[in-house]
Amino acid sequence: MADSVPSLEELHALPKVQQPTYDDPAEVERVTDQLRHLPPLVFAGECDELREKLAEVAQGRAFLLQGGDCAETFDTVTGDNVKGKLRVLLSMAVVMTYAGQVPVVKVGRIAGQYAKPRSKDLETRGGVSLPAYRGDAVNGFDFTPKARRHDPERLLRIYNASSATLNLVRAFVKGGFADLRSIHSWNADFVRNSNVENRYEALADEIERALAFMVTCGVSDQTLSEVDFYASHEALLLDYEHAMTRIDSRSQLPYDTSGHMVWIGERTRQLGGAHVKLLASVQNPIGIKLGPTSTPEDAIALADALDPDRIPGRITFITRMGAANVREKLPPLVKGIEASGRKVVWVCDPMHGNTFEAANGYKTRSYSDVVEELNGFFDVHDELGTWPGGVHIELTGDDVTECVGGAFQLGEADLANRYETTCDPRLNRNQSLELAFMVAERLSD
Ligand code: PEP
Ligand code: MN
Repeated sequence: MADSVPSLEELHALPKVQQPTYDDPAEVERVTDQLRHLPPLVFAGECDELREKLAEVAQGRAFLLQGGDCAETFDTVTGDNVKGKLRVLLSMAVVMTYAGQVPVVKVGRIAGQYAKPRSKDLETRGGVSLPAYRGDAVNGFDFTPKARRHDPERLLRIYNASSATLNLVRAFVKGGFADLRSIHSWNADFVRNSNVENRYEALADEIERALAFMVTCGVSDQTLSEVDFYASHEALLLDYEHAMTRIDSRSQLPYDTSGHMVWIGERTRQLGGAHVKLLASVQNPIGIKLGPTSTPEDAIALADALDPDRIPGRITFITRMGAANVREKLPPLVKGIEASGRKVVWVCDPMHGNTFEAANGYKTRSYSDVVEELNGFFDVHDELGTWPGGVHIELTGDDVTECVGGAFQLGEADLANRYETTCDPRLNRNQSLELAFMVAERLSD
């Protein structure tokens, strides 16, 4: 890793894409100055701890579950919403740990996932063109010139929203909510009317019996009542991520303190570009999205740029090939990286290569395509003798209707019922749990 952080000016002088266009540089400077004075959101030691856990994943001894909204929004920073997401992630992790018999490293797309890359700068409706919505970190979702203005003040709001979210997440995971002995209550107010829920309840019964046995035998351990949970997001906005980069007082090394793990998106991973330069200078574990056009040379060059010292757990490749491509596109990447002698974490994002527009105009994904890509991912790693290290999912704890298929067989006509995402379609709670069982089956094969 480079040992010095580039200045903001150096960073902006590099090739860069997907950045906001602010009309008042003085306002941006005022906001980033304020951010630089605010406390870190996460601590260096926590980032190191996650990197060590990811090193275990890279060695095939643990599995990564990474999930959450495509885009968090200010309106959904509520106790219920955060709790709902956490509950579904913890339930999925329990299913994978128990049925898949593998330790699960839990990472949310949460507390910072507010900025979105877009394929078009403008959105046109009824002959009117306005700047595209780029996430609450940049502008508002309403289709008005005022809301769509790129507003630097929003960088302070994402700091505050992330801080409030993280505070609640920390309280939940360390304060008793995540106690394995209350695993039934995570599900208490869910409607139990699908196969998936019944399977979950049966599994929760089994775990409860096993735990009761352990407690009767005198086992009393903090690991039953607390979980380690980490926050991650795409490090998209250079001004924000740079302002949150701090020198750790213990090690004197730089960390991006906006989240434990940050990733570089499919659209911003140019070698020699500003995003790679900034993330090369920090110590956090780094995710790199790889789409179907990635070559083994790209993957190796990115790993070399971001992790010249080959630090265990530093690099996670998040592949998002699409169900139709994964069996053809993934093997060369895995073979290339293996041949380079690196041990990285391989994670499947079965969402971003499987988005399509339904006949009624909704942007959606099909549960069966998600499963198909995951099966391809597991098969490829089985064939190559490499470890399928994890999954990266867009999900929510609510009963939304954004992806078709799954246990309730949602059809395109159902999408209108509860379509709430401001960006990509997410799996709902049931679809997410169903997926956890599918993953657990592949892990225990
Ligand atoms: C995302 O994770 O929401 C995203 C935009 O992914 P990608 O960079 O892989 O397209
Ligand atoms: Mn997305």
